[in-house]
Amino acid sequence: TQAIMNYGEKIKKDSLAYNLHSWSPQGGLAPKVITKAEGIYFWDADGKRYFDMSSQLVNMNIGHGNKKVVEAIKEQTEKMAFMGPGYAFDVKSEAARKIVEVAPDNMGKVFFTNAGAEANENAIKIARMYTGKYKIFSRYRSYHGATYGAANLTGEKRRFPSEPGIPGFVKFFDPYLYRAPIAFSDEKEATKYYISQLREQILFEGPDKIAAIFLETVTGSNGIIIPPEGYLKGVRELCNEFNIMMVCDEVMAGWGRTGEWFAVNHWDIEPDLITFAKGVTCGYVPLGGVLVSKDIAKFFDDNTLWCGLTYSGHPLGCAAAIATIDVYKEEKLLENSKRMGIILGEILENLKTKHKCVGDVRYIGLFSGIELVKDRTSKEPIVPYGNDPEKIMKKILGMLSSEGFATYNHDNILIVAPPLTISEMELMEAMDIMDKVLDYVDNMIS
Ligand code: PLP
Repeated sequence: TQAIMNYGEKIKKDSLAYNLHSWSPQGGLAPKVITKAEGIYFWDADGKRYFDMSSQLVNMNIGHGNKKVVEAIKEQTEKMAFMGPGYAFDVKSEAARKIVEVAPDNMGKVFFTNAGAEANENAIKIARMYTGKYKIFSRYRSYHGATYGAANLTGEKRRFPSEPGIPGFVKFFDPYLYRAPIAFSDEKEATKYYISQLREQILFEGPDKIAAIFLETVTGSNGIIIPPEGYLKGVRELCNEFNIMMVCDEVMAGWGRTGEWFAVNHWDIEPDLITFAKGVTCGYVPLGGVLVSKDIAKFFDDNTLWCGLTYSGHPLGCAAAIATIDVYKEEKLLENSKRMGIILGEILENLKTKHKCVGDVRYIGLFSGIELVKDRTSKEPIVPYGNDPEKIMKKILGMLSSEGFATYNHDNILIVAPPLTISEMELMEAMDIMDKVLDYVDNMIS
């Protein structure tokens, strides 16, 4: 045990000495050293087990250590680890076909990238090339990636290092009903308001200049915001009216997370482009991509697709995607996501009834968030927007983690999004930990 402890300490020391860690000041970090992961669990160097209740960064949908995917990658590595994007080869053709087969009916072709940000970068370019227009709309409560273009799409504070922004990128407000400035009588009324605001903004920005509207079908890291009834249809109609590309970012919401292959399926919407990554390979190796409609695909029969990456269609990513899609089907993970999602929803509603620190719970499939407040009537968030001077959320995550519940937060919102392989027993066991920690939080605010 002593040797293992020293091993863990050495890894942490080297990590702090040589790794730059995302989104943090580097001093004072204490990253957990992880040595093993299996199914819905992972273990630290002390042998402590954690429920992976965020599926890492909401990407490990099929669970850790899936043998089928591992074998597919091994086999492909030995057969042909790499081939350039100019060639056709089996796994690249098959992965694209399988993705188009599970996508909405209007989708035609796939352009592969390494991950989510690059998918959005290329979607921006494709929308501009196809429409000949340049302005790009996206929402404030959104995260679309950290590269320059994707960061300019992003509405939350992680875009700031990429500012002053790219000219022509316009932000609009999202239908975040829990904190809406107006008390709407129902979702339809809210939709009417938000769509009419967006329509007016389109008119003022000039419809003949707007190439695309990007939105996360279900907003992920910014707090699991589910579109109100009719909203996506409303956006679709505006896009039709003004010849604007509707781009749904399904990097987080796609691949069974909400109980459907893509979240758009819940509302029967056909976007012009869909960007994806994460769950397509669940990180066994990185892969992302842009799905384009048949119309857009046809346009590029005669027009140059000015997009390219050395690793577009990387054989290992494509082999992993094929196996991962088979796993979703064989293990009926979409069905499980739906079924467990209903149970999770009941658990969350109970937590909301029981704990005064819970202002709102939002859930669809195994994609959910718990919004913490100081006071349910005023809805004052437990930490202010973009700022947690007393490190309250860190403390709450620390309590969860010490009880073996690993997840992350965004401002005052806790993300709960376990692997789609989770069983009812496991879900209840994990959520008992959440229940216990929320007792502490109730005390904290009283
Ligand atoms: N889009 C959404 C909705 C995301 O949640 C993320 C990552 O969290 C991205 C894009 C960026 O993906 P990546 O980190 O793979 O570049």
